[in-house]
Amino acid sequence: MSGNEQSFIKEAFDTNWVVPLGPNVNGFEADLKEFVTASIDELETKEIVALSAGTAAVHLALIACGVNPGDEVIVQSFTFCASSHPITYLGAKPVFVDSEMDTWNMDPDLLEVAIKDRIEKTGKKPKAIVPVYLYGMPAKINEIIAIAEKYDIPVIEDAAEGFGSKYNGQMCGTFGKYGVLSFNGNKMITTSGGGALITSSAEDKKEIMFYATQARESYPYYQHEKIGYNYRMSNICAGIGRGQMTVVNDHISHHKHIQKMYEELLADIKGVTIHSQPSTGEYDSNYWLCTITLDPALRVNGQENAYKSAVQGAVGGAAGVTHEAKELHTDCEPNANVEAMRIFLDTKGIESRPLWKPMHKQPVYADADAYVNGVSESLFKVGMCLPSGPCVTDDDVCYIVECIKEAILAG
Ligand SMILES: *Cc1c(COP(=O)(O)O)cnc(C)c1O
Repeated sequence: MSGNEQSFIKEAFDTNWVVPLGPNVNGFEADLKEFVTASIDELETKEIVALSAGTAAVHLALIACGVNPGDEVIVQSFTFCASSHPITYLGAKPVFVDSEMDTWNMDPDLLEVAIKDRIEKTGKKPKAIVPVYLYGMPAKINEIIAIAEKYDIPVIEDAAEGFGSKYNGQMCGTFGKYGVLSFNGNKMITTSGGGALITSSAEDKKEIMFYATQARESYPYYQHEKIGYNYRMSNICAGIGRGQMTVVNDHISHHKHIQKMYEELLADIKGVTIHSQPSTGEYDSNYWLCTITLDPALRVNGQENAYKSAVQGAVGGAAGVTHEAKELHTDCEPNANVEAMRIFLDTKGIESRPLWKPMHKQPVYADADAYVNGVSESLFKVGMCLPSGPCVTDDDVCYIVECIKEAILAG
């Protein structure tokens, strides 16, 4: 943490605002509004609510879209579970839609197929559409919005990974009725833990705040007519956020720089492909995480032993809070050469990870309806995420690429 964060936090203590509201929360929301609406006049009405997590933002956006038990919500399958889990919190059903190859995000054509089919099968429209900006990559959001408007279904953009990414010069998260941001420890900026919801009007913001603070009616005593949540961001976390906003552009530039280095250094390694944004001009990814795919024919040191022993803990720093794995394999897992590359890099002190496992392949969603084209499943089998954060130096990138080369067997 730098002096910027510390001064905002100190001020919170000095002025006795150690609560889930206060000057830092208001200041952080103002900073965020300025950042996401930057110089686009039509976005003036957008308002931000700072929350305790990105997951909370998804949850509250769904409530604001009127999602009730038994309703359906369309969500990108290729994502982290926080995009879809809140749908189930509400007793509603996620309907998963697969990705297209260009951006790895929601396939607009398949989205329309899904909407039509749900209407035909259930007689009801899905209550919301949740596209995701996977690894920061802008989705084909104009096409998605056009389809959503055609069927008059609200869009909740999950921009948790796409903070600062733009499509046609407009910030991801500002296209739909709601936009989700996350400030978890590993995201583009962090408040230690936290999130925000971009709303389309002051009125929507008020409604989100109402549900984020236990749904209190205005009486001199606690009067409750709705179920609310304790989801507001604390003034301390918001102080960290204000400090982080002073360096957000540096963070984004750094991620883009690391991506560019990987692109150059990996260019002539046969069988290794870096995932880059389409070159058609609309896309401006923040490159939150740099990702590669390995040709199934690529032979990697140790691949005959991949999956022979169980990993301890789980990905995401969750060791100690995971269940022990029952089997060494599941019915959908990265190829042996990908797992061997992960292990090889690990022995070199480099942490890499598989891509998100598609939600329609997760046992917990075995009963959910899914509209699939094979894209996310095939990418999951060949892909991996490379170190990309603010602490990764140029030398680190060179070392990582050298280790990738070293892992590859000739022939
Ligand atoms: C991180 C993340 C979230 C949730 O954010 P938290 O702040 O961790 O609750 C939601 N969606 C996606 C795609 C994410 O990567």
